[in-house]
Amino acid sequence: ESLTELPPLRPAARDLPADLRPGVDATPVPAPQLIAWSPAAAALLDLAGPPSEALLPVFAGNGTWPGAEPLATAYGGHQFGVWAGRLGDGRALLLGEHRNPRGEFWEVQLKGAGPTPYSRHADGRAVLRSSLREFLCSEAMAGLGIPTTRALALVASPLPVRRESMESAAVVTRLAPSFLRFGHFEWLAHLDRHDDLRALADAVIDRHFPALSAGPDRHARWLTEVVERTARLMAQWQCVGFCHGVMNTDNFSILGLTLDYGPFGVLDAFDAGHVCNHSDEAGRYAYDRQPGVGQWNCAQLLNACLPLLGEQNQAAVERATGILDRYGPAYARAAVDGWRAKLGLREARDEDPALINRFLTLLHRSRADFTLSFRRLAEVRAGDSSPDPGRDQIADPLGYDAWISDYRARLLGEASDDAERAARMQAVNPLYVLRNHLAQTAIERAEAGDFGYSQRLLTVLGRPFEAQAGAEDLAAEPPAELRQIAVSCSS
Ligand code: AMP
Ligand code: MG
Ligand code: MG
Repeated sequence: ESLTELPPLRPAARDLPADLRPGVDATPVPAPQLIAWSPAAAALLDLAGPPSEALLPVFAGNGTWPGAEPLATAYGGHQFGVWAGRLGDGRALLLGEHRNPRGEFWEVQLKGAGPTPYSRHADGRAVLRSSLREFLCSEAMAGLGIPTTRALALVASPLPVRRESMESAAVVTRLAPSFLRFGHFEWLAHLDRHDDLRALADAVIDRHFPALSAGPDRHARWLTEVVERTARLMAQWQCVGFCHGVMNTDNFSILGLTLDYGPFGVLDAFDAGHVCNHSDEAGRYAYDRQPGVGQWNCAQLLNACLPLLGEQNQAAVERATGILDRYGPAYARAAVDGWRAKLGLREARDEDPALINRFLTLLHRSRADFTLSFRRLAEVRAGDSSPDPGRDQIADPLGYDAWISDYRARLLGEASDDAERAARMQAVNPLYVLRNHLAQTAIERAEAGDFGYSQRLLTVLGRPFEAQAGAEDLAAEPPAELRQIAVSCSS
């Protein structure tokens, strides 16, 4: 059933001061073609799909979504630890928002639809390569149950776009309850516009954190919630081996969503220090540094929001420090719960962090496949004493034997039932993740005009925990020649 009508949008981002959200029209692209459509994202707006021929131009920026008043927003941010001044939506247009019958707000953005006042020297475009990666990973993260912005449609155009080499353009239609970033608050603070900062915070609380609306200290309680959500998001990233790549504060969502899919990567062989972004020479955003960076980013948000935490600077700083102190325990709790679930442990024991770390160390030393190693653990039988087949993947088989023996003892200690535990573990340890080589294959096929592989990936990654017939190739480790695909910031 093809989509022939779109629900009218209402103006979005009205809570930002008008001078920080100028209206901007999309710049049309030649010969747009629909490459991918996410039925799961469409369902959020109660849309059927894919769009009819007549509606396709809307998703390219060549036509108008009813009610849309496209605009770009100003934000600032810390990039690689340094204040970068004004950034803003350089290639994303916010079309408006839809409120669905369930009361949810969904903002609709076109990414790559042409320049804005915030494009600086860049072209306002996105290339097919990075757009397809963003499209697939947004929907894969949603399939994993990890908070994320969503991708509804991907449209390609033969429009040439210059990056390291000549590529072609694409436009992604993204959805989120709000695209506000830490950087929006940082920019208002930088401008010393404290009333606007307060108004924005109040509007965000009323709309997106209604449970925190009433009562005293709403700003402190809201910031605490943002800090804790961010900590929990970091724990979720760590537990699936997701590396963001560019964890600048302008890429951090005020709702705790995974935002801005650039040179991200999902771990294949486990290397705790893996750096997915080739432009990140210092490894600031390495896998094992992500939780710490999440905290650093929260510190920047709190610093920007000091005016909301008290009239007197000293008192406000003390309050902010108290809020930031919540990050560590929130992260630790979410992480240990996440790893425990991955090991199939129901009860919490003091020795669990050590058991978890020993397993991760074995994987790291062997560069064993992160995803498959956890998936295989579901086959361990608690009462068995024969060597576990998983030892073949591990460079230190004796170390693995010792670990498995302690793990089995731990399982017996909570009277774990093999079949019941295996089902639980398979519901948290995905079989399919968007491995780099899968994204690369999808890009190569799409650039050659074949979109079937992308469609298949989208479908399979939408249910990442269920083994799917005929999808064995999508679960496998990368072949040797596809293990080191360089992914740079360029997009
Ligand atoms: P990112 O590294 O993707 O988070 O982008 C950082 C900043 O650069 C944001 O303000 C983006 O909007 C802007 N930007 C990135 N690529 C482009 C582009 N091709 N055209 C215009 N602005 C861009
Ligand atoms: Mg960004
Ligand atoms: Mg980006």
